[in-house]
This record gives sequence, structure tokens and C-alpha cells, in this order.
Amino acid sequence: MPNIFRRPSVGTIRALTEAEIRASFVNTTKGEAKRLAVPKDLAARPWADLDFLGWRDPGSPERAYLVAETATGLVGVALRKAPGGQRRTMCSLCLTTHPGDGVALMTARKARRRDNSVGAYMCGDLACSLYLRGKKDAGPGARLPESLTLADQVARTAANLAGFLRQVTTA
Ligand SMILES: [Zn+2]
Repeated sequence: MPNIFRRPSVGTIRALTEAEIRASFVNTTKGEAKRLAVPKDLAARPWADLDFLGWRDPGSPERAYLVAETATGLVGVALRKAPGGQRRTMCSLCLTTHPGDGVALMTARKARRRDNSVGAYMCGDLACSLYLRGKKDAGPGARLPESLTLADQVARTAANLAGFLRQVTTA
């Protein structure tokens, strides 16, 4: 299991293979990591515009996954979408606002104590990187006017994600 306690920084992601993705999960059993639905279109993912890889399980919409590159290696986290929520809510990673369940409360079992979980509001499609870059439109009013540069917004998102990963991986 990668140790991201000391340097919980999150860097940009590179094109990943299915094997790398399956090996990265910190909060699943080995069997779960082997069976979970990895995107079939990995080669077509817009890697250059991604700060992390995130996806929903098409066969099981309450399941979602994210994989990030940290200072100590890849960290994959299995998430579950909590039901409900019709208010307009802001993603805690990229600060994009979506109506209805466009932002979902995602919960993750903790890596070491799987009876415990942590939760965070996230873009339901985990496409934070694309919303930040304006490559995916979240609709009017979704992005607050920002004085920060894109690079700074990306760094802020990485810091937010690192904070969430730290919660998942600390006991
Ligand atoms: Zn987001």
C-alpha cells in the first residue's frame, strides 16, 4: 500500500494501463480490485487534461472510482455515491457547482479500517479536470469567476484531492 502520509502531494496523471489501475486501489480487497469495472476506453481518455482519472461504473451507478498520482505512487480509491441530494451543491475538489445530483456525496471506506468511511462532495462524473479547463460545460453559474490562474486552480484541486486521500489512508 502506498504511503502518502508524509508527502501527500498529488501530481498530474499519465496514461495508465488497466493493470496499473487495478494495482492502485488502497481501500478494496484484492478480489474487488480485480473485478471492478475499469474503463474500456483508456486509450481514448484525454490524459493531457486530467489531474486524476475518475469514472462511474456503468453497470452499477452508485459505484465510482478515482486514481491519482501521488508522491509515493498511484493511489486508487473506490467510492460509493450516497443517495439523495437535490440542492445545488459544490464539488469539494474543483469547486464547480452543479444542480440536482450533479454533485454527489461520495463515500470511501478507509484503507486500514474498512468499517470506517469518509465522505466528500464531488462532481458526480468525476470530470473535475475538464470542468476546470472549460473542456466540459457544467452550465451557467457553475464556475464562480476566479482570479486564480488555471495552474493555481489545478494546484488547489490537487491539494483538495490530497486532503481527501489523506483522510482515506490515515487510520
Ligand atoms: Zn469537481
